[in-house]
Amino acid sequence: MLPSELAAEVLSDTSFCLTPIRFGILVAMSVLLFLYLEDETTTQCRLRKLSLEARIWCHRLHLSKVLGLSMSKLLHDMKLIEQQYSNHPYHGPHHAADVVGKCGAMLRRDKAKLRRVLRVRMGKGGAGGISERKFAVFQLAVILAAAVHDAGHPALGNNYLKMSQQHKFQKCGFSAERWSVHWFTSKFLKQQSFLNDLTLAEREQVVSIVSFAVLKTDMQAHADVLGMAQQVLKEKDAKKRMQLLAALLLHTADLANGADSWSISKLWARWCHQEFHAQGDTSRAQHPELAVPSFNDRAQADVPRAQLGFIRMFVKPSYNALWAVAPASAALGLCGCLVNSGMCRLTMLWQGAEQKVMDVCGAGKLPRLL
Ligand SMILES: [Zn+2]
Repeated sequence: MLPSELAAEVLSDTSFCLTPIRFGILVAMSVLLFLYLEDETTTQCRLRKLSLEARIWCHRLHLSKVLGLSMSKLLHDMKLIEQQYSNHPYHGPHHAADVVGKCGAMLRRDKAKLRRVLRVRMGKGGAGGISERKFAVFQLAVILAAAVHDAGHPALGNNYLKMSQQHKFQKCGFSAERWSVHWFTSKFLKQQSFLNDLTLAEREQVVSIVSFAVLKTDMQAHADVLGMAQQVLKEKDAKKRMQLLAALLLHTADLANGADSWSISKLWARWCHQEFHAQGDTSRAQHPELAVPSFNDRAQADVPRAQLGFIRMFVKPSYNALWAVAPASAALGLCGCLVNSGMCRLTMLWQGAEQKVMDVCGAGKLPRLL
């Protein structure tokens, strides 16, 4: 049946009536769809410069006002971070800017709940609120961690760095995340000036939160980070609680492009696989002795299936974990996961049907891309 025939049949069906319950469901669905489409983290394809994005979010979160930060110094120092990113298809400055935006939006959207999670415990169940300044220091650390988390990323996976014995990463245990932290602590902190507007204790706290959270963006730590949502609620030490919460927010924001609106999420998936396939090509050319994993092999590419697996295994569990500490952001992210999983399945069905036709014609294999 053609879609036009189906539409005509539905319209001519006089048995359908708009009951109050159906009307309520329709309104609720429209509101959810509106929130999903209009949310700043889902509709904007973040192609703003990293330095500008970080500055915008520091302004929106009132960090300059509360902490007395100089915005011109901050912009200058963010440019130092921006210069560490190469123009890789995925791990470029646009990815860092996107993660800064996602973290900023989560910090703003769930501010009240996050402040409750970080409140000071005073024994026997008593608790006092976290001061505006302490919370601002936490927010600044999360934004800085998001900006720096992939600085110097080589667009190669840690496994490949290890197997191909990349000399530059030897000192950092062949980990791109450790490399970013090493650059941040040994180079950036010596060159920057905006953190000098904070007290020494606050500066040390920012450095400890950034270092901890960036190391936890390694996908090997995914299961660890999911456990942090419950850990953060039980943790008694206020500083440790900030580290755990920052790691959870950053890790979720790092994967959150899988829950963006479909048109944008599709773009990120495309860029990510371009980078995976480029790594496969490099591996074949420079290290023919190494086996190329299927997700790095462009001949075996099945991007919709890989994206569905990514959402199911990483993005959705991260938002589920986030529910305990940032429910508004988690609800929005889970809504995105639901829509995008459906779109991946639909694309797989459609590409499978196309392939069947090609098989009948003997026309060979169609590329399964997004
Ligand atoms: Zn990242």
